[in-house]
Amino acid sequence: MTFPIMEFNQTRWNRLLLNSYWIMLILSIVIESSYLFVTEVSSSEFIGLYIVRPTLMMTAILILTELSQRLWQRYSDYILITTSAALALTTNFIHSTVEYLILLLFFPIVISIFYFQYSKLLYSVVIAHVSLVCLYTLNDEMNNSLTSISLLAILFIMLTFSYIAFGVLARGREILINLRSTSESNQELLVRTILMDKLVKTDALTETYNHMAYHEFMENMVQQAESGRMKLHLAIMDIDNFKSVNDTYGHKAGDVVLRKVAAIAKAKVGSNDVVARYGGEEFAIIFAEKDFQEVYDILENIRMTLASTSLEVIDRHSVTISIGLNRFAIGMDKEALFQGADAALYEAKHSGKNRTVIANRT
Ligand code: GH3
Ligand code: MG
Ligand code: MG
Repeated sequence: MTFPIMEFNQTRWNRLLLNSYWIMLILSIVIESSYLFVTEVSSSEFIGLYIVRPTLMMTAILILTELSQRLWQRYSDYILITTSAALALTTNFIHSTVEYLILLLFFPIVISIFYFQYSKLLYSVVIAHVSLVCLYTLNDEMNNSLTSISLLAILFIMLTFSYIAFGVLARGREILINLRSTSESNQELLVRTILMDKLVKTDALTETYNHMAYHEFMENMVQQAESGRMKLHLAIMDIDNFKSVNDTYGHKAGDVVLRKVAAIAKAKVGSNDVVARYGGEEFAIIFAEKDFQEVYDILENIRMTLASTSLEVIDRHSVTISIGLNRFAIGMDKEALFQGADAALYEAKHSGKNRTVIANRT
């Protein structure tokens, strides 16, 4: 299993790792140079053997790494692990009498933990062990100074170390998987909350906002308008003679008509406006940030569009609506705003229907 977030940073980490190899090369030159003051070997011999030779070898390894990394980018993790083994081996070959340097052979294992992948850890364990065996068999000095018991002991420590590394990796991956599933379920929860919120506020039949959402919006809008920061209008529209639509064509046809009325209203209003089913065949439209004339024109457009739209379900007849419109004025609360619009609607119904009446401002 791979972890996409980690792969995303892999190139950057590899670059950092390679940079640190270069820094280690510089440090090793500095450390070697300091030995110049204490060594019994002649300076020129020491510089040749322990400064120039390792520097050239390691520089060659690092240049090779830089090139191959660019050439086979897909394998750059394996290349970097191999480089760490090559550097450790080179150092050990050059200073075969300095026994503790054998610890450097653990280097690839440590590095592979960075990658968090079993395949890379396994690879590094294999090359660390192979390096140790190579060093023991190919380097005479090492062969002489290291007894086979010591070799076995080092091999054993290396194996134990590898085992621990596998444990660290397993534990880390377990934590990561947990973390991922937690974040996934959090995301799922968030999406579900948003959907639920929408569902709770939506009228299932007309897909407009429902009565509860209407009150919620009004509460906020009136508050905004009260501070003088926003223009606010409220329209209540009611389908004319809807009972007879139901009586003549059936309740199902009535539902289709309701949906059509809602769809036309939603299509005509602006993105800041809210269409809500107030109840039955009555809709409220909250207009925010619009001038009176703009609101009035939209309402007349809805009314006239409906009046001229023939509907299949009611034998190509059309329905009309009556509208009451009220404008918010400072000092009004949401009930007063509604009552004004409702009274205007009442007037529209009693003066012949299929019209928009503006609330009386006296
Ligand atoms: P007016 O022009 O005065 O508004 O007359 P009207 O017939 O439209 O008014 P009335 O209040 O008498 O009737 C409203 C009808 O709306 C009655 C009810 O059956 C119907 N209605 C309410 N909700 C629904 C609904 O969800 N689906 C359907 N098909 N009809 C509904
Ligand atoms: Mg009606
Ligand atoms: Mg009604």
